[in-house]
Amino acid sequence: MNKGVFITGTDTGVGKTVVSAGLALSLRHKGLDVGVMKPIQSGDRGDTEFLIKVSGVKDEIELVNPCYFKKPLAPLTASKIEGVKINITAIKNAFDELCKRHDIVIVEGIGGLFVPLTEDYFVSDLILELNIPIIIVSRPNLGTINHTLLTVKHARESGIDIIGVIFNETKKKKKGLAEKTNPSIIEKLSGVPILGTLPYIQSVSITDCKTGKLKNTFLKNIKIDNLPTAYCRLSTAYKKNLEDIDKTHLWHPFTQMNDWVKEEPVIIERGKGSYLYDTLGNKYLDGNSSYWVNIHGHRKREIDEAVKKQINKISHSTLLGLSNVPAIELSERLIKIAPESLKRVFYSDDGSTAVESGIKMAFQYWQQKGKNFKSKKKFIAFYNAYHGDTIGAVSVGRIDLFHSMFKSLLFETIFAPPPYCYRCPIEKTYPECSLACVNELERIVSENRDKVAALIIEPKVMMPGGIITAPEGFLKRVREICTKYNILMIADEVAVGFGRTGKMFACEHENVPPDILLLSKSLTGGYMPLAATLTIEEIYKGFLGEYSEFRTFFHGHTYTGNPLACASAIANLDLFKKERILDSLQDKILLLKDELIKFYNLENVGDIRQCGFIVGIELVADKDTKKQYPMEEKIGIRIAREARDKGLIIRPIGNIVILVPPLSSTKDEVHKMVEIIYDAIEAVTCQN
Ligand code: PMP
Repeated sequence: MNKGVFITGTDTGVGKTVVSAGLALSLRHKGLDVGVMKPIQSGDRGDTEFLIKVSGVKDEIELVNPCYFKKPLAPLTASKIEGVKINITAIKNAFDELCKRHDIVIVEGIGGLFVPLTEDYFVSDLILELNIPIIIVSRPNLGTINHTLLTVKHARESGIDIIGVIFNETKKKKKGLAEKTNPSIIEKLSGVPILGTLPYIQSVSITDCKTGKLKNTFLKNIKIDNLPTAYCRLSTAYKKNLEDIDKTHLWHPFTQMNDWVKEEPVIIERGKGSYLYDTLGNKYLDGNSSYWVNIHGHRKREIDEAVKKQINKISHSTLLGLSNVPAIELSERLIKIAPESLKRVFYSDDGSTAVESGIKMAFQYWQQKGKNFKSKKKFIAFYNAYHGDTIGAVSVGRIDLFHSMFKSLLFETIFAPPPYCYRCPIEKTYPECSLACVNELERIVSENRDKVAALIIEPKVMMPGGIITAPEGFLKRVREICTKYNILMIADEVAVGFGRTGKMFACEHENVPPDILLLSKSLTGGYMPLAATLTIEEIYKGFLGEYSEFRTFFHGHTYTGNPLACASAIANLDLFKKERILDSLQDKILLLKDELIKFYNLENVGDIRQCGFIVGIELVADKDTKKQYPMEEKIGIRIAREARDKGLIIRPIGNIVILVPPLSSTKDEVHKMVEIIYDAIEAVTCQN
């Protein structure tokens, strides 16, 4: 939260300028150093000049009013006619500067919350970006209930804090029933405090302000006692408090908390597009897509609205014994876009539960198929694989750092060499090897064919394993082997699904139909936890029978098929279509590829692996010998930290720097992300 208050109206002409001036004078009277701002002004600059004179600030007019149009028109119309775009960054910079100079900045708005500043950016977006609460200025007379309640509703739905409503008598008029009763009705219906009614002051002049008339009237009629303490929270103190609570009560995943408590955390408060904003107002490019989930950027209007619309119907109802509309609609949508083999959708909550249900399904399928198949109980997975943190998912994973501690809890899995060409586990060189690792896989499968229920694979890229990109043809051969030896193929597309690799699903790169497909992460565009396990009809049919045969799949989670999550997933799929996400991604993938070439010049970059919009940069202590940095040196963590200081959030895996931008990132943003990573690697590896 920044040190400001935004004065918005229910409409134009409600007297925002007088209220802004009155508030500025009153807060100054209470001992605060008050700054004023009128970010956008059209017509003459009278309001701005009035505010400056009244409040007595010495700030340059370009700071107080960074955006000015000569024509007295609505901002968007004026900007189009004058051919000048409204520069939101300039407004934000001016506001930041004023915040540095003053205890609090009173920002006078432009009409109401829904006034457009560009085609898809409204006053409410500006308020969110300035990160300050609002005071709503309203007319006290007939018609104001509707306008005020709509303003409150929109502010709340946008996530804007409301301090209260001030009624302003802009005309000399006898008070009728409406004027007398509207404030209390509005307070009751909206739950927003009414700060008071500012009585009519005849043509407020600079002199009125100098003599104290406006200030005295304001102080007498408007409650502002809570304002300086409750809403002008000095952001550093606010953050410190959150930080203390975090360090006292939170336990962060995959984090050595001893280190965590020594460091200053970034506390994210909001996001917009490719950017995350912390509580101090610093912004960062989200190079991690908030852990590989975000697709269309943060606060994507269509998904926001889909979720809100669903909230107005129902937020949760169970799929156990009932069905719900979004869960049904989404299942059809998923089957339409998934590889053709797949016909059924089983929902769960996250990647790990998608994996659990997939492996249990495969296991039970064979158990129920007949006595010849009862021995098919094991799973084949790859070394370096990671499929989640629940015990079943850990059993089919093999990253010793994460998994070895739990060995005695796990079921036995057969592991095969991964296609990790940079450090080939069978010491061959690609492409001369002709995919020798697949031959090794075939040997393992053929030896265990009667024991194996399924093979689990992350198609094309083993992401958590360190962005291990499989060479062309590997996936297809894996499918052939599974078919040949009659074992099910489970494709874990929890991380690689939904366009990340350049195609909707990674399996499509080699036209491979899996028997079970696991989806999560980006399924909801990065909004909500939801997972889906898709299967072929044959597996589904294997569970059918008389009730008394108990062939039922006894598995399901409380929030399975949650309507809010399914609604966000449908909106996500709509956007893929409407915005032709995959088409527009192709150029950006090529750009990323070009931008990465220069990394080979860096002395400690051993390998660069890219598949679509997924990048892994493996750092080595010695390029010739591929000697790894000792883990204790935390090279990846230090680079991510350096990048964070430069305005980019990334999260490494060991010595591998990882970049996974939202698919909606612009070319400029991609360029900036890559530049920051380059500089960060250079800066950190030079220190060594
Ligand atoms: N599979 C893969 C390939 C993953 O990357 C992950 C998470 N990184 C999971 C499964 C587990 O997903 P979750 O963390 O949502 O349980």
